[in-house]
Order: sequence, then structure tokens, then C-alpha cells
Amino acid sequence: MDNIVYIDEIEIKNKTLLIRVDFNVPLDSNGNITDDSRIRAVLPTINYCLDEKAKIVLMSHMGRPKGKPVPELSLLVVAKRLSRLLDKEVKFVNDCIGELAENAVKSSSYGDIMLLENLRFHSEETANDDNFGKELASLCDIYVNDAFATAHRSHASNVAVTKYVNTCAAGFLIRKELNYFRRAVENPMRPFVAIIGGAKVSGKIEVLSNLAEKVDKLIIGGAMSNTFLKALGHDIGASLVENDMVEYAKKTLNKIKEKKIKLYLPVDVVVADKFKPDAESKVTTVQEIPKDWLALDIGPATVTLFSEAIQNAKTIVWNGPMGVFEFDAFSRGTYAMVSNVANAYALTIVGGGDTDVALHRAGEFAKMSYVSTGGGAFLELLEGKVLPGIQALIECSKKNKLMPEPEQQL
Ligand code: AMP
Repeated sequence: MDNIVYIDEIEIKNKTLLIRVDFNVPLDSNGNITDDSRIRAVLPTINYCLDEKAKIVLMSHMGRPKGKPVPELSLLVVAKRLSRLLDKEVKFVNDCIGELAENAVKSSSYGDIMLLENLRFHSEETANDDNFGKELASLCDIYVNDAFATAHRSHASNVAVTKYVNTCAAGFLIRKELNYFRRAVENPMRPFVAIIGGAKVSGKIEVLSNLAEKVDKLIIGGAMSNTFLKALGHDIGASLVENDMVEYAKKTLNKIKEKKIKLYLPVDVVVADKFKPDAESKVTTVQEIPKDWLALDIGPATVTLFSEAIQNAKTIVWNGPMGVFEFDAFSRGTYAMVSNVANAYALTIVGGGDTDVALHRAGEFAKMSYVSTGGGAFLELLEGKVLPGIQALIECSKKNKLMPEPEQQL
């Protein structure tokens, strides 16, 4: 990660910068932005470039238009919001390549800022097409990537493009994300506790395997704990379970035991007679889940147990809700954990789309040390993978004219 060049390590004054950002913000049915956190997250990078009098060309994707223009997924609405946040005109360009884009860049001055139309209106973007990357690269002197949430994808705007630029750098958001991740997972203050929840073991197998090498305590909640409870021989009624993952769960339990990691699973759950917000519900121990009922949340004794387990933690990483928090009746466990983690005297790092939503709803977002902007990207880091977008930056940084050769560093 140290092999990446960052934007404040190179000269950008009077240069044209093509910056990949992630402006994939949620919209309501009227096309209004419902949460502009992703735009705000890259303001430090944008403001720095403006202060340095660079010409800024921003590019992003939004939604999944599948390679053709979809008016509802135009980034125009983002350009307007960004303009308001910066209190400065943000020129909107109706295409991200071709004459329109070239002319817009040529006719702008240093210190100007523009946003190109949705990259995914061209199928070449997700295909990581070389020519498309080359066309994007032709718009700039320096390529900058600050789209952490897209870094786990191999797309033209974060991989192919890097082959055709002479100088590239990462922005401040990527630096922040990687620094927090490193502090949490690569070099944690101990005890290091991971809290993993959500729906499926299968989606987080590699996360569990990788974390089992590193953590002191592992807390598992949500539907994913059902598969572990089943592996331990509990009858979990009609709860969501992945039967084909029970064997894997048994192996993981053995590994955890061998490594002397302290494992915490629910001891009681809130069960429902159907998967509905207005279902009849009650609290039972995990030994007494009624047949045909579903465990949809962790129970109060489990909240106390999990809360005790994180008392002495120095580092906490959390991904995935403790229950079906979208239904009020089954949201208490998740919100109680939000509050416990928020009040812990630890470095607290939270990632993953759903956990992020829960933090916002509970109003505890600001109390976490860091909330990652990348759901999938954060999970892949937790899996121990090198993200393609980050790898491309590392490769590209090697050819940066301003970067010393490795021999010279010795
Ligand atoms: P994930 O994307 O794997 O983090 O899963 C998040 C989803 O898991 C949320 O939509 C929750 O509603 C769901 N979930 C959490 N706990 C349960 C449970 N006990 N039963 C069914 N779904 C659950």
C-alpha cells in the first residue's frame, strides 16, 4: 500500500487532472439524492486540487445502466449538488469520451471543475476495455483515483486507464480508507474483535477465514449465526440457514478452537411466526426455538453477552446487521450493538452497506472511528485480497516520472 503515490506528493498546479470518484449516490423515485455522503467524502481531494489551481475533470458511474444512456441515471443531479457543496460552478459534460468531453476540457481553465456523464452509459467501462481507457486517459495530464467503493472492480476507469497515463496518484479518501484498514486489521491494538452478521455465510466465507487468522474474539450474529448454531446441533426451526454451509461452519468452529479464538454466538433470539414486519414475536433461548418459527434478531441476553465481550476491546471491526433490522420489531439487537460499539473505548471500523444504513438510522454514525465508504471493497479487504483498482495504482505509480526508482530508494 505504501507503493502508491498520493496526490499531495506530486505537482498538480496547472495540470489537467482526471479524477475517478464514486458518486453512485442513492436517489428517491423523483430522482432526488437521498444521501450525499459519497460526494462529501471526496471533497477534501477536490478542494485540495482547486486550491492548487488544477483543472479538474471528474468521472463516476451511477447505478447499472448496462452500457446505454438511461436518463434517470444521469449524473447531472450530482453536478448540481456538488456545485452547491463547493459554492462554485461545476460544468456538466453530456458524455465521458469523444468530442464533447475533449472540447469541454480544452475550453476550461485551470481552477475550473467539470463532471463527465455516467461512465457506464458505455459498455466498455465495465468490460475494462483498453481503447475506452485510452480515450479517458487522453483527457488528462494526471490520473487520480479516489473511488474506494469501486476499487474492487476491474473497470476501464480504474484499471485500463492507468496503462495510458504517465502519472497517476490516489486521493485522500483512498489514503484514509487504506490507513484505517491497516490500523485495524494489519496492525491492530489488541484485543481485536470482529463482529460479523448479515444474511449469508457463503458471502463471507473468505472474510471469516481471513479474520480467523487475526482476531482475538469473533462475534457472529444475524442469519449467519443460524448456520453455526445448526453446526453445533441446535434445532433452529424455520430460520434462514444455509444447509450446504453447515460443514464449512463445523470446520470454521474447529479452526477457531485450534487458534484459541474466543467465539461468541447468540444464546437467545427473537423469533417470529412468519417473515413479516407484523409477525407475532417472542424471545427464546437458542435451545428452544419453536418448530416453524424463525429467528430474526438476537435476544436481550445475547446483547448483554456481546456487549461484555467488547468491553476490553482495543480494535473492533464490524460488518453485517444482527437481525432483520429493516423490520422495527427485529431491529433492537442491531441498534443495541450499534450503541455498544459506538460507546466502546476502541478503534471502531464499520463497513458494509447494511451496517452503514443501521448506523445512520440509529444516529450513531459520527461516534464510530471510521465508517468505510465501500461495502464490497471493504469486504474484499477483509478477505485479504488486493483490490484491482489499488493494484493498478501501485503498478502505475512505478512509472510515475516523479517517483524514484526502487533501487534509488534503497
Ligand atoms: P448481508 O448483505 O449479508 O450483510 O445481509 C444483510 C441482510 O441480512 C439484511 O437485509 C438483514 O435483514 C438480513 N438478516 C440479518 N439477520 C437475519 C435473520 N436472522 N434472518 C433473516 N435475514 C437476516
